[in-house]
Amino acid sequence: MNPGAKTEITVQGIAASQGIAYGQIFVYLQSDVEVPAYQVQPEKRVDEIARFDHALVVTRQQISKIKHEVEKNIGPKEAAIFDAHLMVLEDEALIGETIREFESSGCNIETCFQKISSRYVQAFAEIDDEYLRERTGDLRDVAQRVLQNLLGQAENSLGRLADKRIVVASDISPSDSASIDRSAALALVTDTGSKTSHAVIVARSMKVPAVVALRDLTKRVTNGDWAVVDGYDGLVILHPSESTLFRYGKIEERKKSFEARLLEASREPAVTLDGVAVALMANIEKVEEVARVKACSAEGVGLFRTEYLFLNSARIPTEQEQFLAYKTVAEAVAPHPVIIRTLDLGGDKPMAGNAGLFPKENNPFMGFRAIRFCLEHPDIFKDQLRAILMAGAHGKVRLMYPMISGSEELARANALLAECRSELQARGQAFDENMPVGAMIEIPSAAATADLLAKECAFFSIGTNDLIQYLLAIDRVNDRIAHLYEPTHPAVIRTLAYVVEQAHKQGVPVGVCGEMAGDPVFVPLLLGLGLDSLSMAPAWLPAVKYLVRAMTLADARALAAEALTLASPKEIYSRCDAFYRARVRVE
Ligand code: PEP
Ligand code: MG
Repeated sequence: MNPGAKTEITVQGIAASQGIAYGQIFVYLQSDVEVPAYQVQPEKRVDEIARFDHALVVTRQQISKIKHEVEKNIGPKEAAIFDAHLMVLEDEALIGETIREFESSGCNIETCFQKISSRYVQAFAEIDDEYLRERTGDLRDVAQRVLQNLLGQAENSLGRLADKRIVVASDISPSDSASIDRSAALALVTDTGSKTSHAVIVARSMKVPAVVALRDLTKRVTNGDWAVVDGYDGLVILHPSESTLFRYGKIEERKKSFEARLLEASREPAVTLDGVAVALMANIEKVEEVARVKACSAEGVGLFRTEYLFLNSARIPTEQEQFLAYKTVAEAVAPHPVIIRTLDLGGDKPMAGNAGLFPKENNPFMGFRAIRFCLEHPDIFKDQLRAILMAGAHGKVRLMYPMISGSEELARANALLAECRSELQARGQAFDENMPVGAMIEIPSAAATADLLAKECAFFSIGTNDLIQYLLAIDRVNDRIAHLYEPTHPAVIRTLAYVVEQAHKQGVPVGVCGEMAGDPVFVPLLLGLGLDSLSMAPAWLPAVKYLVRAMTLADARALAAEALTLASPKEIYSRCDAFYRARVRVE
């Protein structure tokens, strides 16, 4: 194919993960299939039922094939889940009711099947039996597959890309992003989203370029179109011309040689030119990522987002399963510490197939998420707390609560933790009795009461992704207002300074684990404000370390002191940018 055959089109979005990709597009259709509704002529009704039968047969063949592949590549236990999927297809009630609905309404079979299967999904989600409730996800998956076959839509899955592709989607949910085929996604590009949506965080951790907020791009492209994704400037160039490809080839070469220099620096200690050591740690979402923590010479894991263990699974992982995951990470990073954050499900990270646990909300980011969910589900929470305490016997583990809003909530969480300690003691189980316990500071009320929280915490970690969204009232995943999401807003800087001041008065160290910590432009400001450690996606650590080694803490303090006197977020940003550019040159 000649990539230059069509006219080149440049679409501007928001740069979300650095890097350049060139390749063919795969349009990822969201799992909720759009079903047209129409009446079927009486003489076509027999054919309509035959069409339904055919779709069921094709679906069965697809699932059997996947089952076979999983069995061969992973194992029989994992393949067994597809038996449950096959059983859905044999379900007489579901199939029979669909046909009865069709006979009485005369509506096309997709509409009837969607109506009946959604009713089943809803009923399963509300059942008071955990095993049956867990089948909701299976049912939903199979129903989507049948609908796709009925509508003649090609099967698509982010977890099984046929080839290396640029993934274009209207949005990517956290569970979709958790299952992305990391070896085949060249870049992620979405119509909606912002720099801190979770799909973008995953893209950054995969070191895959990402551009978001491209509005209606999914409607302007088709599978197989060629494109360049520029994750530095937030551009997607469709049908790139030869000269564009040449230009991007050059940019990529320069960036590659710069990255080689960064990688070299990352093996050196993170010490400023005036001799101050800075703790740089890594954020991880999955146990497997621990290898990257070591590869980038991070001083441990500053944020382990444990909810991904839950998002990747059709059911809630048991205490033992969680223990093994946490222990693996703790052992791998020892003697460095791992900060295990308790569950932050809900918000934009609901658990698929558990609609009963996460009812739909109008305002999910201000709703039933994280510690709020855990305190209302003490059984789920305590399984996790015990698993973390037990992992403490195998490495340097610290426990951290997300979304703490004040000291009463912290006390309630700590009371459950105390119960867990007694239970483990009664079992005679080995665990870390003195595990340091900290809180994320990511809600303004926590920041304002930092002095009170510091009394009960061994450390703080500031979640700037959420803190900024709540301080500035900017939904972090809403692309329409993404330009207003400003980490250098004076309110943000003053809040950071206040938290550090209050914590330090009581000898409590403060880190940052939001995306701000991994952006070299903001790093001097954070260090100048007195932050003790920074935790970021492993991919960003070399660039941050390079900068740390090229600056003095004294200069960073001066920058922060000046920033605290300025009123304009843009002006503060440009001071930070100038600081960075004066010390780091790409060429
Ligand atoms: C944050 O809010 O900054 C943070 C690190 O947590 P998450 O991005 O997982 O909400
Ligand atoms: Mg957060």
